[in-house]
Formats: sequence, structure tokens, C-alpha cells
Amino acid sequence: MSQPKEILISKSSIPRIAIIALAAIFALGLFAVGFDEGHLFSIAFGDKAFDQMYLHELSHDLRHAAGFPCH
Ligand SMILES: [Zn+2]
Repeated sequence: MSQPKEILISKSSIPRIAIIALAAIFALGLFAVGFDEGHLFSIAFGDKAFDQMYLHELSHDLRHAAGFPCH
């Protein structure tokens, strides 16, 4: 009596939807840290957001540490 053969095929692939979701989050984060000067908050607060630049000031040190110029 021979032993039964067991063949294990392991495929590990990252779902495409996960890559798309992470790429979108990365793009939003990159914009918020590197380029935003009130654009994102202006959606809710209007032109006032461009004067206050909350997100810009919040991520200011991170922006400089990452090498983005701003002033
Ligand atoms: Zn700066």
C-alpha cells in the first residue's frame, strides 16, 4: 500500500484592490504633507482655509524633513 501524495501549491498574491486602496491613501498623504496649502480644507471652509493653512502648519516639520521646499 502506497502512501497518498499530497501536493501543496501555495500562491500568495496581494489583492489588486488592496494595492489600489493603499496607493490612493499614499497619494492623499503625499499631497497633504508635501503640497497642500489649504486646498483640502478649502473644500469645507472655503477661501478662509488658504489664509490659515492648518494642514500646512501641522505637517510643516515633516515637510521639511522629507525635503519638500516651502519657504
Ligand atoms: Zn517651511
